Amino acid sequence: MARKKQLLSLLLSAAISTACLTVGSYPAFAEVQTPDTPVHIQMQGDANNDGSVDSYDSLLVLRQSVGYNDISEENLPYCDLDNDNELTSVDALLILMKSVNSDTGEILCETGINAICGDTVKIDAKIVPENKNSKVTFKFIPDKTISKDGSGQTVLEVSNTGRIKAYHPGTSTVTIKASNGATAQCKVTVQDLTTQQTITAAGKNLTVNKRMMMKNECYDYTYDFEKIDGIVVHSTATPGVMAETWYSAWNKPNIEACVHAFLDDKGVCQYLPLEQIAWHAGSPANKTYLDFEMCEPAGFYYSNNSITNYNVAAQQKYFDKIWTNATVYTAYLCKTYNLTSKNVISHAEAGKMKIGTNHGDPDHWFVLHGRNMNDFRKDVQAILDSGAISATEPKVVKNIPLASASTSTSDYFDIHTEVTPFDMFKVWGDDSLRY
Ligand SMILES: [Zn+2]
Repeated sequence: MARKKQLLSLLLSAAISTACLTVGSYPAFAEVQTPDTPVHIQMQGDANNDGSVDSYDSLLVLRQSVGYNDISEENLPYCDLDNDNELTSVDALLILMKSVNSDTGEILCETGINAICGDTVKIDAKIVPENKNSKVTFKFIPDKTISKDGSGQTVLEVSNTGRIKAYHPGTSTVTIKASNGATAQCKVTVQDLTTQQTITAAGKNLTVNKRMMMKNECYDYTYDFEKIDGIVVHSTATPGVMAETWYSAWNKPNIEACVHAFLDDKGVCQYLPLEQIAWHAGSPANKTYLDFEMCEPAGFYYSNNSITNYNVAAQQKYFDKIWTNATVYTAYLCKTYNLTSKNVISHAEAGKMKIGTNHGDPDHWFVLHGRNMNDFRKDVQAILDSGAISATEPKVVKNIPLASASTSTSDYFDIHTEVTPFDMFKVWGDDSLRY
């Protein structure tokens, strides 16, 4: 009882001093409800039904309890916070406490998050006890932890909305500071792992393995797309080097190129975050185009920039399979980024449009099988029109290269010393792909 009295005197002094300071600027006390008043849920304690519970509501209830008649009939049920069927100073106190709580609550957030390199995750923070009036804002501050993979790069970056981009393996602590003075910490553990998911479209399944090429400078150097205009389709001009093998070939410095993904007859290997710009077709295409490389099969070679010893009949099975995989993947990207088949171009077309470097891929390969980019777009559009494109949640699997990788790039280039690897390296009259 003594405690209740003490609280009461606190309330009275607070409420009265508020009244003395601001009484001259109060709006008319009577709230007129008209049929045009927007429907909303009135909170307990909102004595004037203005959408917030604040010290003014407390004052209204206090005045009501001592005989003023400021609160309209329909608002009265929202003022009896202790449910004793009377409006007393205790109700005013409870309302005042409720209003104050919005500024003194604690941060509720996850204390630990696991992320995989290349992922974007979010720290969700809120103030408890929850109060819709709360105007509390948050700052997210990562510590300067250096990665454990020897890259010297930071583990993660955090935006002011709590969006975390996980870069390199390690652990970082993100400090969350609320504008009401509350703080909290979230430990973020970042790991270099391979994930696998399955895309299903038009009755076909496509496996996507994802692991970041963190040692390729592109991974740390480029920034996120501001917009995505389309997708550039490439082929490697490096016969027999399959999607998984490119990981060991390109996950290192001084490559001066990097692509989002490689495809072969088995599936997709994604090596960069899709949100981020790659180095695949030069400027300005890189800045607004996603891309992937179709791996050309073993069994032929390039000589003087020409395909030599290519057996169309023997390669048809591989070609049909990678065509299906590439059209399904392209349709999936189109759906994900709100594009249509009209936004899909080849590297050769990008060159003709003067938005990319002057290469011939993959048109030079398609033509051997009687296909062209219009056929490709038509098949992509048919998958899009079929409507059913879905993807499973990524699951962690054994790291790339998976057990199936057999041909190494070094094996290939030992045999074919006359060829410089990959279409980027002057096979098709290149200049820089990087910018
Ligand atoms: Zn290309």
